[in-house]
Amino acid sequence: MTDSKKVGLTIFDIDETLFHTQAKVQVSKEGKIVKILDNQQYNTYRLKKGESFNYGQFKSAKIFKETSTPIAKVIKRAKRIIHFATRKGSKVIIVTARQDMDDKKLFKEAFKAQGIDIGRVYVERAGNIGKETASENKVVIFKKYLDTGRYARIRLFDDDKNNLKAFFSLREEYPKVDFTGYQVFKSGNIKKL
Ligand SMILES: [Mg+2]
Repeated sequence: MTDSKKVGLTIFDIDETLFHTQAKVQVSKEGKIVKILDNQQYNTYRLKKGESFNYGQFKSAKIFKETSTPIAKVIKRAKRIIHFATRKGSKVIIVTARQDMDDKKLFKEAFKAQGIDIGRVYVERAGNIGKETASENKVVIFKKYLDTGRYARIRLFDDDKNNLKAFFSLREEYPKVDFTGYQVFKSGNIKKL
């Protein structure tokens, strides 16, 4: 594919990027819950020997839909990007650290309620991959798209520094691709990195 034919890929995170969310991830060891993590703590938590994640709340579409509050500035930006990008052949995806949701229809309703055309946005669930950290899982997905060679530009909207750092670390491996990261803050402000 010639470079002029190449398109852009825009990636949005969900938790604390598009929505403030409440679901917690439990860490259990020998059948007991040893820690309860909010999604930001989960992003950086490294499992210790014998521990595993319990994603019960994280999988619940009902908890997601009922307790998430939209981050207006990012939602607005996402809507605009989805509208223009998909018209020009570029792609928009969501990459979440979550696993599969228990009710996809209900999950999608939370996006539709914000006017997001979720039918045009594929949701990649990095929690299904099983590496040690959420950022390592996300990198596997980023690479899957980069390896197609279709993209001249890739940009990531994420609240988590580790995810953004992992994203930028791919620059070396894909020198022809233009990488842009946007960090989303608690206030909803977006900073271009
Ligand atoms: Mg996040």
